[in-house]
Amino acid sequence: MPDPIAAARAAGRTLLTEVESKELLASVGIPVTPTRLATSADEAAKVAAEIGFPVVLKVLSGDISHKSDVGGVELGLADAAAVHAAYDRIMASVKQASPGAKVDGVSVQPMAKQGIEVIVGMTTDPQFGPVMMFGLGGIMVEVLKDVAFRIVPLEPRDAKQLVREIKGYPVLEGVRGRPGADIAALESFVLKVSEFAAAHPEVQEIDLNPVFAYPDGALGVDARVVLAPVS
Ligand code: ADP
Ligand code: MG
Repeated sequence: MPDPIAAARAAGRTLLTEVESKELLASVGIPVTPTRLATSADEAAKVAAEIGFPVVLKVLSGDISHKSDVGGVELGLADAAAVHAAYDRIMASVKQASPGAKVDGVSVQPMAKQGIEVIVGMTTDPQFGPVMMFGLGGIMVEVLKDVAFRIVPLEPRDAKQLVREIKGYPVLEGVRGRPGADIAALESFVLKVSEFAAAHPEVQEIDLNPVFAYPDGALGVDARVVLAPVS
């Protein structure tokens, strides 16, 4: 497969697809679900059988950045028939919710076991340049804006502080008998994304939302890489 950044540039795109973004991040050792493109229901079922059930299908379109908002995410598909039905549902609801969008097909990936949802991101600040962001996923970031920031490149000490700085940190330590998260794995995750960002000044934004934090390890299940516009 060609370099996803070069491929996007050649096509005049700044938004990498989920498949391209994950391929790029996986190539530098960032743990993400292996994710493949399928352009028909039959191909999706074939890819799913190769990956192993249950799988997740998501709409793949350069025009859609919030896939679940348009009915573009189908979780926990247990067999080929479920994949077929989900493919058709995704195409129908995306057509309704986002009629103008050019759809390339779907992404197919293993259904990951549930973990604590966190987000790891990088944004480029006009003044400070690339900045890493860390927070708890879902309503914690959307409603409570419980996120912390550090300027790239991060040292191991910065990653330690970043993860511990959010108000929700006790959730990661484990509360009321709930299992906590592997904090060292989160620190290493953040450091690898920072390293990747430092090595790729042409990357303007990285979103891993969510990353599942487990008692043992961490895994990105959604990823988005955005390139800077060509000047
Ligand atoms: P978007 O953010 O574009 O709406 P996501 O890819 O983040 O779409 O998927 C929506 C939600 O589905 C995620 O927040 C997560 O809870 C769940 N999800 C996504 N991918 C997986 C996966 N591979 N395994 C388990 N759950 C997933
Ligand atoms: Mg997401």
